[in-house]
Amino acid sequence: MTELLEGGCRCGASRYTLSVAAMPEVYCCHCHYCQSWSGSAFTQQVIVPTEALTATGPIVTYGYDTDSGATSTHRFCGTCHTRLWNDNTRLPGYIVVRAGTLDASDTLVPAAHIWVKRKQTWIVIDAGVPQFAESAPPAEFLAIVLR
Ligand SMILES: [Zn+2]
Ligand SMILES: [Zn+2]
Repeated sequence: MTELLEGGCRCGASRYTLSVAAMPEVYCCHCHYCQSWSGSAFTQQVIVPTEALTATGPIVTYGYDTDSGATSTHRFCGTCHTRLWNDNTRLPGYIVVRAGTLDASDTLVPAAHIWVKRKQTWIVIDAGVPQFAESAPPAEFLAIVLR
């Protein structure tokens, strides 16, 4: 069975649908880039196959080269500038969706945390949830978050 997950930006002009077998596993990134970009303590992401996404609205892009030499291309609402998803040349065939933009964001429970060496000290992570000081080893990480 296919589940259709809906999401969108703050102003409502940009909307998307994820056509997936199940709700993807969510992970949190506590790195400084994510803190400054979100203006918050961490970001929440889900990784889904590129073909799962259908989007409408005035979506604009911003690309940059990461510290590790990959190219990351981000998609935003061109009206309110909410960051919606990105792809990365190190993970072809998949996109990384800002999970806080899902309509059901109040139901999310993280399955992993990365860059916890940079997390805010008040955040206490459940001992049963995998956490990584920096980026996780790709194979180990994808085994946790990909469904
Ligand atoms: Zn918008
Ligand atoms: Zn980050």
